[in-house]
Amino acid sequence: MRETETIWMNGEFVDWADAKVHVGAHGLHYGTGVFEGIRCYETPKGPAVFRLKEHLQRLENSARLLYMDLPYSVDEIRTATHELIGRNGLPECYVRPFAFYGYGELGVHTAGNPVEVVIMSWPWGNYLGDENTASGIRAKVSSWTRVGANVIPHVAKATGIYLNSMLAVHEAQRAGYDEAILLTDEGYVADGSGENIFVVKDGRIATPPLSTSILPGITRETLIQIAQDLGYVVDETDLIRSDLYLADEVFMTGTAAEVTPVRSVDDHELGVGAVTLELQRAYLDTVRGRSERWSHWLDHVDVSQAATAEA
Ligand code: PMP
Repeated sequence: MRETETIWMNGEFVDWADAKVHVGAHGLHYGTGVFEGIRCYETPKGPAVFRLKEHLQRLENSARLLYMDLPYSVDEIRTATHELIGRNGLPECYVRPFAFYGYGELGVHTAGNPVEVVIMSWPWGNYLGDENTASGIRAKVSSWTRVGANVIPHVAKATGIYLNSMLAVHEAQRAGYDEAILLTDEGYVADGSGENIFVVKDGRIATPPLSTSILPGITRETLIQIAQDLGYVVDETDLIRSDLYLADEVFMTGTAAEVTPVRSVDDHELGVGAVTLELQRAYLDTVRGRSERWSHWLDHVDVSQAATAEA
């Protein structure tokens, strides 16, 4: 992880090295936290955060699902995010706001624990490897199934839920693959350990519906919109394992992974297809401010204002 200068912590900017919590923090013991992964891109008009409001709204929704009252509004966290990006002075960065139950009591019930809110930002390349953006990754269907809708609310981007993803990606990489694909207990395709999944077959695009315990990805929603605007039919429909093996193309989407082609699933070779590359180009042009068509998704950071706030 490449360290940056400052971290926003409970309303204040603190030096990277000083952003610490007590070992008795509730979130550390029980995974009682919520988080977001957001990207700020360099555009011709300066740094811009992609779909910041939607990410922060999801953070608030995730908190609600954990009975957590965020002590800051979406607007306050948005302002703090802008200021953090300005202060760290990076043209491009990954932004990680998170909230967790802090130090107080160690009963499993969260009563008596403060809610801590933190925002970090640092430079981070494509999550599945910059080199794989063109050539694609090798995926493996996991022996771990996606955590069920009545186990933990999958709509929440909650820290504890990521144990499910961690086990799956660990297993996949130990077996020599790049990423895992999780199925539901019923055998339907859900998502990757940190990405949503799309399948292209005979020119149509399909992606698993929310009922398969997926995280409602913001990149997923973005890609559905872009694909439809480009004239593709996108079906949100149940997919089974063999749909992956017989697909013309498979790709994964996520803030960190952007649009990454999947070149094989369980050693069934698929290659990298034209539809994936077209959508990937449209996505990257959008986030980098090179396309006007979907420019309303960019939240431009006024760096001069952030610098003034610092002075
Ligand atoms: N599924 C899972 C399990 C994830 O962790 C992520 C990354 N947040 C996604 C899908 C993609 O979500 P988004 O496009 O909002 O980053």
